[in-house]
Amino acid sequence: MLRSVILAASRSSQVERLVATAPYTRDVVRRFVAGAATEDALRATRGLVDDGLAVTLDHLGEDTVRPEQATATRDEYLKLLKMLGDAGLTPAAEVSVKLSALGQMFDEQLAYDNARAICAAADAAGTTVTLDMEDHTTTDSTLEVLSRLRKDFPSTGAVLQAYLRRTESDCRELSSAGSRVRLCKGAYKEPESVAYQSAREVDKSYVRCMNILMSGDGYPMLATHDPRMIAIGEDRARWFDRGPERFEFQMLYGIRPEEQARLAGDGYTVRTYVPYGDEWYGYLMRRLAERPANLVFFGRALISKK
Ligand SMILES: Cc1cc2nc3c(=O)[nH]c(=O)nc-3n(C[C@H](O)[C@H](O)[C@H](O)COP(=O)(O)OP(=O)(O)OC[C@H]3O[C@@H](n4cnc5c(N)ncnc54)[C@H](O)[C@@H]3O)c2cc1C
Repeated sequence: MLRSVILAASRSSQVERLVATAPYTRDVVRRFVAGAATEDALRATRGLVDDGLAVTLDHLGEDTVRPEQATATRDEYLKLLKMLGDAGLTPAAEVSVKLSALGQMFDEQLAYDNARAICAAADAAGTTVTLDMEDHTTTDSTLEVLSRLRKDFPSTGAVLQAYLRRTESDCRELSSAGSRVRLCKGAYKEPESVAYQSAREVDKSYVRCMNILMSGDGYPMLATHDPRMIAIGEDRARWFDRGPERFEFQMLYGIRPEEQARLAGDGYTVRTYVPYGDEWYGYLMRRLAERPANLVFFGRALISKK
């Protein structure tokens, strides 16, 4: 119920204005977002890489409705990739891209062209791109763009969401050699017709999907903060004899940093997903919907006068 209310608020411009102008919002945002500028993203990346973590960088923004916004997003990624390469931060750092920020909502070909330019820049910088997955109405289009991109850039990664009923089958399709798949639970509000609704059903699906990916020939990227899913991931890595070069754990910037360090210290590859940029609202609201404890933290910061 609370999750549905917060996810509805994530689409409300009135609530966005209220939250954006509230005192101390900036302090809360800073916990989950590296900063507004490309330089902030680079600084955060350097710190994480120095701590033995890999990174994927997300320039915040989604649901783009104008071609020039999509072009600006593409150009920001090109600039970021050049800076990462020049700073010697590739291949440890790669980028995550939302096709909706590149024009997918109004012109799939434009989104593909923009994504292709980003893949070419990543390739030149010696690193990779992962296509984030958004709500279920975009899944087919995103997987279609992925398969076109992979013809020239085979290391382009996909994200599959365990809450979708279709995902076990998508995992089978994408578990072949050379395929990079980030498995997450899923962050959008989806109808029962396409998605499991209870946490238990989603967790069971996550484990089934993990089994398919970890027993397959691709490169699984297990994106979760859930201690049970992480423990099962460690177990499957032993069972299928997957060392740190054959799969990785992924977590979000600012969430369970001690667990990220613990896993890296145990010899696993751990990648932190680092968002940066001005358009933090939708991202932050999805993080709040996932965890009521974050809401308490956020609410306290909003009303604090100190
Ligand atoms: C790297 C990465 C990339 C992602 N990309 C996408 C994407 O492209 N598309 C998409 O739809 N979703 C994406 N997600 C979000 C994902 O779908 C989930 O919404 C999100 O990760 C929450 O699910 P969870 O598996 O972490 O565990 P949850 O089911 O939210 O939580 C399970 C347990 O994990 C622990 N936990 C969770 N959060 C915290 C916290 N803040 N502090 C302490 N413990 C915590 C708690 O023990 C909790 O009970 C991504 C997530 C990650 C980590």
